[in-house]
Amino acid sequence: MLVVHLPMPEDSMDPALAALGEFGLIDRIRERIRHRSPGTVLGIGDDAAILWLEPGQELLATTDMLLEGVHFKREWGCFHALGRKALSVNVSDIAAMGGRPLHALLGLGIPAAGVTLAEVEALLAGLEAEAETWGITLAGGDTCGSQSGLVLSVTLLGAAPAGRAVRRSGAHPGNALWVTGCLGGSAAGLLALEMGLRPGAAWPPHVLRPDWLGPEEEGAIQSAVRAHLTPAPRLAAGQALAGCATAMIDLSDGLASDVGHLCRESRVGAQLLARLLPIHPGATAMGRWTGQDALDLALRGGEDYELLFASETDPSPILASRAPGVAVTRIGEVRAGPPIATLTGAEGRTDVLTGGFDHFRRGK
Ligand code: ADP
Ligand code: MG
Repeated sequence: MLVVHLPMPEDSMDPALAALGEFGLIDRIRERIRHRSPGTVLGIGDDAAILWLEPGQELLATTDMLLEGVHFKREWGCFHALGRKALSVNVSDIAAMGGRPLHALLGLGIPAAGVTLAEVEALLAGLEAEAETWGITLAGGDTCGSQSGLVLSVTLLGAAPAGRAVRRSGAHPGNALWVTGCLGGSAAGLLALEMGLRPGAAWPPHVLRPDWLGPEEEGAIQSAVRAHLTPAPRLAAGQALAGCATAMIDLSDGLASDVGHLCRESRVGAQLLARLLPIHPGATAMGRWTGQDALDLALRGGEDYELLFASETDPSPILASRAPGVAVTRIGEVRAGPPIATLTGAEGRTDVLTGGFDHFRRGK
């Protein structure tokens, strides 16, 4: 591709990375690749990958970007986790369709300064580890110098039996609304990261910790940090739910906003009960510490990558057998009416649910 932007200032780049060059780095990526998913006819090395899909399957395609300064900070130093997350947030989208992930394409923008070859290698190792977990083959991508920070864009291709992928649009009045796992952990983990906590490490000495913070709360906050850095996509749960969910969405922007997407696509309303929401214990602890409302972290924090779905029947038995260990909670129900979600608080007052993350508004 012809590039018209300014050349990379090579002298500020990590010498090992500059010596390797774009094509050397692509070779490194290629050397790492293990073909794991069925249907990779031709992987990295040509102008396009050749992929094959079994008859009777439909192709699922999804992309998510991770941008430095928007989704992560380079100074957190968590490059392995970043590689994993770049893929796992896409796996979460395939999970929300009840599909199987197969092939990934990686768009990589590497900034001129401040990223070392070792860090890029850690990032690729993380991506590979995640690919191995889910049986995904990295089938191609693009590598560029970036003038504006580290950029990771993953496209994930997957499959579902024709006509069987679960959409956002099938919820019916009377269906119950359910959510997997717990909410607010990722937002709480982000707060802790911003306050200086790093995964598996003690708080830095300058952070004054409240008296009530005991080992249990510390453990919950560390688990929240993990939830933010390395979210666990609910793939087995999503696939198990393909037979019983009438509509499904993964929670990336926050329940408050994502339940609205499900309502609009299904042309229904929703009523949620605050006392039923499974709040991550790390959100409870960080909320108490920082004065933020834990319920607000659970509703509007985003990036929990749990599944929200509507179902006519109780999904617990099928989840217990096909996705053991994944908790599921009934949080409300689908109602006939305008595509609005309401939340009934502990004190019994019902309000229209607003907020959640919007990249163009930056508001909650
Ligand atoms: P082209 O200029 O034809 O797009 P490239 O030189 O960009 O080709 O890429 C060469 C090969 O390396 C292609 O098969 C491409 O898919 C693969 N590739 C490039 N960058 C990456 C990356 N970051 N991850 C995986 N594969 C990559
Ligand atoms: Mg290219």
